[in-house]
Amino acid sequence: MNIHTPAAPHFNFDNTYARDLEGFYAPWKADPVPEPKFLAFNHDLASQLGLDGDALKTDTGAAIFAGNTTPEGASPLAQAYAGHQFGGFTPQLGDGRALLLGELIDQQGNRRDLQLKGSGRTPFSRGGDGKAAVGPVLREYLMGEAMHALGIPTTRALAAVSTGEPVMREAPLPGAVLTRVAASHIRVGTFQFFAVRKDWPKIKQLADYVIDRHYPEARNDESPYLALFKAVAEAQARLVAGWMHIGFIHGVMNTDNMSISGETIDYGPCAFMDHYAPNTVFSSIDAQGRYAYANQPVIARWNLTRFAETLLSIAAPDTDRATELLTEAVNTFPETYLRHWLAGMRTKIGLTTELDGDLELVNELFAAMDGQNADYANVFRQLSKASIGDETPARALFSDDTAFTQWLEVWRIRLASEDLSPQDRAIAMDRINPLYIPRNHKVEEALSAATESDDLAPFNALLAVVRAPYVEVEGQQLYAEPAPNDDTPYQTFCGT
Ligand code: AMP
Ligand code: MG
Repeated sequence: MNIHTPAAPHFNFDNTYARDLEGFYAPWKADPVPEPKFLAFNHDLASQLGLDGDALKTDTGAAIFAGNTTPEGASPLAQAYAGHQFGGFTPQLGDGRALLLGELIDQQGNRRDLQLKGSGRTPFSRGGDGKAAVGPVLREYLMGEAMHALGIPTTRALAAVSTGEPVMREAPLPGAVLTRVAASHIRVGTFQFFAVRKDWPKIKQLADYVIDRHYPEARNDESPYLALFKAVAEAQARLVAGWMHIGFIHGVMNTDNMSISGETIDYGPCAFMDHYAPNTVFSSIDAQGRYAYANQPVIARWNLTRFAETLLSIAAPDTDRATELLTEAVNTFPETYLRHWLAGMRTKIGLTTELDGDLELVNELFAAMDGQNADYANVFRQLSKASIGDETPARALFSDDTAFTQWLEVWRIRLASEDLSPQDRAIAMDRINPLYIPRNHKVEEALSAATESDDLAPFNALLAVVRAPYVEVEGQQLYAEPAPNDDTPYQTFCGT
């Protein structure tokens, strides 16, 4: 008999954070859990990381992803960071329930963090239990894969394992651990942690580390730290523009949830907007609408201003000059953001050239959608059909389509100024406007089935759908529609 035994899992760790940034973290160990079992494993991502998926999708792998076994070469640690949460500053947050295992170099030569989330209490846990529940872990898994498929920079999940122990939220919930892969886990809050302690040598050390790891071009600038700031601002402008293009609402854009690398990080009460409404908020704890859809670029700038403040003592020979230069850089953010946003919006409405008046054209589309119960993703998706003569499906998405119909006229005239053939244009539009996003009722359905009946089938089905967002598949129609009777506003909870 030929029994295939997978090779022992092997990780080629190279842990620069642990090695070069002593004093920025606490070395720590995960809490063992009774019964690690795979909920999901990302073979595709494992291959990209140069890992042997077959060796990892085993009991040995589950033990590693639950934190029960520390793989060889890992240097598990909890990172220190601070943060502004809903505008209020906390000088010490840190990884209260996460551990950085180490770093791997992926197949493209990029350095990637491997982090466990939900692995138990750490010195940064404050009142928390250090744990995570199945629902939020699967939500983060799903959202990361959807965002990745949509071309938005994001952390991704390598694995989700259930732990076999309950975690106490409003009610006991099944526990889980997420293994997260990120360009790094350095946040605006990481800088804030040392700035509030006036530890300027550490700020400089961190800035140098970030330049080497994420923005090496800044090193050649005559003001490397100012160049670093500008590079981060550019990455954030691009990121938040990407969110706005697809109707994504992060929900907790605190400075500790804003990655310096420019990836979407810390999927908590996030969601995709169904009907377009600029003031849409899903998070139950965001009563003031601070992190509402339309406010995200404003908050991105606010967060960048907090980042700039941490660089004041190193960005120029004196603080006055640094203040002047950083203020100037912060003030260009709206323009940078608008550039990214408009470029993406032009593509979404099928334009390949830039003309004066395009911004007004896009804004008029949003004005036509506002208050009309228009499904955000579907309006853009159906524009391709409208561009080749069939306006009915797009118009049907509006309660009152008067303004939209007028807009279509103006849009058509603008399209006629381009050389592209209508067919090619329609194809290009369908490659950028998703048909399948993780719709809120589908996400809820998947998470409830997994949490309440150990049924992963809806989760797996939804995951497969959102991983291929652009190509229409027969039988998947329900995934492209909003909830049938969605009178109650969708709410997400931070009990993560
Ligand atoms: P978040 O809102 O998930 O981004 O977390 C904000 C801060 O709270 C971070 O420092 C987290 O590590 C910490 N935190 C969140 N949930 C827990 C938990 N269950 N146990 C300990 N710390 C937590
Ligand atoms: Mg966080």
